[in-house]
Amino acid sequence: MTESKLNSMNTFVERAQRILSTSPGKRFILVRSNIRDFKLVNQVFGFQKGNEILQCLEEYFDKKRLCFDVYCQLHIDQFVFLMEKNSYSEAIFRTIADNCSNLIMGSSFRVHFQLGIYEITNPDMEILSMCDRAKLAIKSIKIDEPFSVAWYNESIMEKRLYFKKVISEFNDALEEGRFLMYLQPQANTKGEIISAEALARWLMKDGTILSPSHFISILEESELIWKLDLYMWEKAAQLLACWKQEDDKKNLSISVNISPKDIHYIDIEKTLIGLVNKYNISPEKMNVEITETSFVSNPAFYVELIEKLHNAGFAIEIDDFGTGYSSLTLLKNFHADILKLDMGFLQNNDNLIRSEIIIDSVIEMAKRLDMQVISEGVETQEQAAFLRINGCDFFQGFYFSRPVPIDKFDTVLKAYNLERTNKGAKHPKSMRNLVLEAV
Ligand code: C2E
Ligand code: CA
Ligand code: CA
Repeated sequence: MTESKLNSMNTFVERAQRILSTSPGKRFILVRSNIRDFKLVNQVFGFQKGNEILQCLEEYFDKKRLCFDVYCQLHIDQFVFLMEKNSYSEAIFRTIADNCSNLIMGSSFRVHFQLGIYEITNPDMEILSMCDRAKLAIKSIKIDEPFSVAWYNESIMEKRLYFKKVISEFNDALEEGRFLMYLQPQANTKGEIISAEALARWLMKDGTILSPSHFISILEESELIWKLDLYMWEKAAQLLACWKQEDDKKNLSISVNISPKDIHYIDIEKTLIGLVNKYNISPEKMNVEITETSFVSNPAFYVELIEKLHNAGFAIEIDDFGTGYSSLTLLKNFHADILKLDMGFLQNNDNLIRSEIIIDSVIEMAKRLDMQVISEGVETQEQAAFLRINGCDFFQGFYFSRPVPIDKFDTVLKAYNLERTNKGAKHPKSMRNLVLEAV
């Protein structure tokens, strides 16, 4: 921070403290403004444009149209204001944001103006802590709008603390082998288990097991996910090497997940080829799931990656197909082997006829593009039968089995094998019957 900024920050703190301590009974808020990716604005449009935007902001702020009591520039693109709560007007901030972003007209890039607001409940709290809370509110903004506002609340702080806890405990957990590979079986239309998806679980020190919703997005946001993915791919390769020796498993394959963030840290092609060589397994046994949303950010890269992995013998699955906005365009450009229908296609189906038409058409399209189709999230016999009738090749979901630890996977597999070879056998659920009934 430059000396002048530091001075103005000190002055801001002093004046804010004075206002708060001499105005009991009034409700104040601390508003922090931020321009998202301001560096990018400078890079794309040049420093002069960046300066114009900042000047535009400062002019508004200097004219005090915002009715604040005191303000300062925290960083080049960040301002902080102390104002009475009833003087705050979102509309005025929105107008300012619009006017600044209009300085970049005719471009597909929009300036993103964000506000984080902390309502002061304890006037004795340090002003800098209030600024931090307003910053946390900004960080909680997940929507991609040109203007967005978030009010701080305690759950934002709790989430932030949880975020920090995950990051600080992650490396130890990884080194101590406390990430587990669960497997969720995938079946073909004959009711045979032909593969499994590898899904991570975190074994905490107290013995609880965390599911991915508690850590994957945090590891992605903090750019650590690649370490977990490397670990999971290696575990999958090791397991495939063991399965090679076992008659009932030597034909099974395992699907591994690739995070959109991995490409920044790992040479995916080199790593996966390295693993199949190290464990002397066939690349055909290792399916690679790339989520649909990855493609959008970097299409050219993924077209090439898919081609390279494909040439090396891996089967590529487009995961979560149907969740993005450009699913169809994607099919045109990405020559994957398997389309994995997102479970959203099956869930909350108020209008079965419409969804049948969509699923039927997507499957038909995939077939014509020479791809096989797997559906995830199959929870009921009706769904499985419906998918089967419409030409789906593979099924994955709670109806067949939840993701299970490796030893339990053996039990599930044995139960299904028993069912296939012995009609009188009892087993958890019969895929075979369901598939036969559906035809
Ligand atoms: P995903 O790749 O879409 O994996 C399928 C998720 O759907 C799994 O959640 C699975 O438990 C759940 N699921 C399976 N069948 C059903 C069903 O019938 N009904 C419902 N409601 N859900 C079902 P899980 O294991 O909690 O994993 C969540 C997500 O976390 C995965 O979604 C994947 O995106 C991510 N993930 C898991 N392990 C890894 C990993 O090692 N690396 C990376 N990058 N991501 C992972
Ligand atoms: Ca997946
Ligand atoms: Ca999925």
